[in-house]
Amino acid sequence: MGLSYLEGTCPKCGEKTREQSNTWAYGSPIRFCPRCKQEYLDKRWREVAIDGFDPKSTSPGYYLKAFLFLVAVTVISGGWLYYTTHYKNYYSTLVVTVVIIGAIGAVACLGLSIWIGLGFAAKSNAKYLEESKRRLRDVEYIRKLQAYGYVIPSEYLVGIGNSSDEMQES
Ligand SMILES: [Zn+2]
Repeated sequence: MGLSYLEGTCPKCGEKTREQSNTWAYGSPIRFCPRCKQEYLDKRWREVAIDGFDPKSTSPGYYLKAFLFLVAVTVISGGWLYYTTHYKNYYSTLVVTVVIIGAIGAVACLGLSIWIGLGFAAKSNAKYLEESKRRLRDVEYIRKLQAYGYVIPSEYLVGIGNSSDEMQES
């Protein structure tokens, strides 16, 4: 669950990119442009073994609060829509849009809150952490991240002769 898309622009050739991700964009920050085939850094992606999880993905309370807020927005704008339609003989398409987006957002936030609360997010986070750790077994990949300025936790540097970076970290 939690499918979304990250849209951006390739810094090398200017191609518009649109990539499928999970809600919190867990994955490698090193992306490949579909047009020019060059790689580039997109820090919106979280390499969870380094960056950690987005706190929102472990807290059902965050999405519950967002749900309550969106319900309030939907009810208030819905009430206003009802009032103008029935008593003033007009309605604003902006208000209609707010009602629709508020309702959809509320359902999505409630769904996420329940999904996290039932432990499904923890399960999928564990999967993303495994994938992240697997990427970090590749020395080449670690070097690339370091070149981009990432500080790699020492547990992933064992045996690859990286004492200078370990010193930076402490
Ligand atoms: Zn490109």
